Amino acid sequence: MENDSFQIPVDSAISGVNLDELNTPQREAVTTTEGPLLVIAGAGSGKTRTLVYRVAYLLEKGIDPEKILLLTFTRKSSQEMLWRAGQLLNETCRRVVGGTFHGIANMLLRRHGHHLGFGSSFTIIDRADAEGIVNLLKGSLGLTGRDKQFPTKRVLVNILSGSINKSIDIDDLVYEQFPHLSEHVDDILNLDKHYKEFKFNNGLMDYDDLLVNWKRLLDSVPEARQEIAARYSHIMVDEYQDTNLIQADIVRLLAHGHENVMVVGDDSQSIYSFRGADFYNIMRFPKVFADTRIIKLEENYRSSQPILSLTNDIIRNATEKYAKTLFTRIEGDRKPKLFAGRDEREEAVFVAKKIRALQGEGIALHNIAVLFRSGFHSYKLEMELNASGTDFEKRGGLKLTESAHMKDVIAFLRLKVNSMDTLSWNRILLHLDKVGPKTARKIADTITTAVNPWQALADYPCGKTWKLGVKKLAQLFLDMEKETIPATLYDLVWTYYQPLFEKIYRDDFPKRQKDLEQLRAIVSGYEDLQSFVDDTTLDPPEIANGLAGEDRERLILSTIHSSKGLEWDAVFVMGLADGRFPHAAAGIGEQWEEERRLLYVAATRARKYLYLTYPRVLMTPDRQFKRVGMSPFLSELRSGLFERMDNFGSTGSVPSFSHSPAPTATDFTRKSKKKKLSVKDLKQGTRVRHPFFGEGCVKGNVKGRSVDVAFERHGVKTLHLDYAKLSIV
Ligand code: ATP
Ligand code: MG
Repeated sequence: MENDSFQIPVDSAISGVNLDELNTPQREAVTTTEGPLLVIAGAGSGKTRTLVYRVAYLLEKGIDPEKILLLTFTRKSSQEMLWRAGQLLNETCRRVVGGTFHGIANMLLRRHGHHLGFGSSFTIIDRADAEGIVNLLKGSLGLTGRDKQFPTKRVLVNILSGSINKSIDIDDLVYEQFPHLSEHVDDILNLDKHYKEFKFNNGLMDYDDLLVNWKRLLDSVPEARQEIAARYSHIMVDEYQDTNLIQADIVRLLAHGHENVMVVGDDSQSIYSFRGADFYNIMRFPKVFADTRIIKLEENYRSSQPILSLTNDIIRNATEKYAKTLFTRIEGDRKPKLFAGRDEREEAVFVAKKIRALQGEGIALHNIAVLFRSGFHSYKLEMELNASGTDFEKRGGLKLTESAHMKDVIAFLRLKVNSMDTLSWNRILLHLDKVGPKTARKIADTITTAVNPWQALADYPCGKTWKLGVKKLAQLFLDMEKETIPATLYDLVWTYYQPLFEKIYRDDFPKRQKDLEQLRAIVSGYEDLQSFVDDTTLDPPEIANGLAGEDRERLILSTIHSSKGLEWDAVFVMGLADGRFPHAAAGIGEQWEEERRLLYVAATRARKYLYLTYPRVLMTPDRQFKRVGMSPFLSELRSGLFERMDNFGSTGSVPSFSHSPAPTATDFTRKSKKKKLSVKDLKQGTRVRHPFFGEGCVKGNVKGRSVDVAFERHGVKTLHLDYAKLSIV
């Protein structure tokens, strides 16, 4: 396997599929090979394992591997699952078609896209490219300058992409979610039209187009639909809670005719609604497929009882969920630990120290992970780890291909496979001396409509001052024309680009060159350039952080979003401070709930040890220090589910915050502005308002500063007065 630190653990290799290694409902899911099947179950209950066994089981029953389609959230996880299935059965599992929705869309559209007017050499563009085009169009449509209030490229792409992923018309989305931009709706619609045309004329597809066009293909081209539907007789989808409506439609259309489709998911782990994921897809599945068999898995095989008790309690407070109960037979007496650092540095020092202690107890570094909400939350920790020489790998951070110099190099390679890509032409032409946007556009227009684009560039009537630059560039492409080996093509590009590179990035080119060396190593692993170019946008490699080489054992640092589906012996969740988790901008309602699910996903990754940490002081965006308390999601938990640790690593005997409302756990600014509510103010029957739960009626004092409040729409909640932001109506 390409990366042994990626774990969706399945037991050691055995030959033949041994169904005794599954519990009864898992076995039922594996052996139900025909008809629609929905497995809905909590974290760690073996959903992914069930899919792995089912792949092996189907093959053992004689299903052709190429007829099985396994859709997963990352490409790595499908590779891992198929490798596991291979361990259970044999190598045929590797021939199963597995990948992400976007990856499979890419493959099918290259083959069948001509039905929709696309050539097979279209280029996939990423978010930054999309913003670049939108910006270009903003300029050419006269939407800049004239009216400074016109939304930025980032907001515009959010709107265009949001409308697709959430299946809402652009105007409705603007009126509902961006009401302050309502006056620009016509311009936004016009921009959208031009954006679509631009992509089509340049042979470009963004991420959303891959899904939209796959669906169009299935929906409106009977010939393609028949061919594709006949190709896959068994469809399986992991992490179904994070699919959007288009993906659900694709699944429905793919399964048309045979309905052999199995999806697994956990609505409580849905954490991608900002990308349009809709966990109602799970609830809708039985309606879309009339005879769906629903299987629930209730035994958790991952976490010890104290961890499971805490994670069950995190999700207990969720407002909407499919009722599930989870139990575990894994006993354990290590309660999850809570540590509050004086500041971010002390939090980081604690985590680094604890990791070393765990290693001392015999836990291998790659069995430990530190999780956080956003990539930058781990900076202090990374410094600590670097200082102590602890090897780590960071996931979910910046992608290698996101920086300007990488995009430059990739632009040349993209043009080699799709000479119509104006965006890339623009990028590299603008590097030439005395070539400005207008000239670049004129040159690009000529080249992209020419029969032989490279010759057209060589013959372009240039001005004296920029002639030489254009000729050199044309020569590069003429040299590249005869080459097919990706590494050789890369070297040709580098020879041309190096002097420009050193000039453009005069200040820091040696540092940037290290990224390019990584890219060179990656390119040389490819046999065809198209796959390399596709992967740089579909599955871009991450910037290598830390000290280790590939083969060393490393600690995992990861955003929670990138930790989905994985598990480790010991898990640290950092930054659990009020204002950071949930994110200060999370507001109330759905976003708040999604943040809670995010914490649930994080905490459910742990097998034996779980550490929750936060700093008592945070820096605000305007560089002020602000005292903060723990995340409201932690303060809501029942007492006794975690133990506090002090700075020396020993645990306090006080079982939970509710006995000891620590003075530091209060937001200073909030405290100074408002009088603190006291339990006496909240007698039984007092009407109160909560920012998210709305109005409710106090039922009584539970203990300490906690009260029970019955809310009209959300039922009874136990709330702590220091954190719950209650006000008396
Ligand atoms: P998540 O919701 O986090 O994606 P999941 O439901 O997909 O979790 P898995 O990752 O498949 O759960 O399984 C969790 C752990 O439990 C794995 O280590 C897996 O091997 C183990 N496991 C699952 N079922 C069994 C079983 N029947 N016997 C032994 N171990 C099991
Ligand atoms: Mg899973």
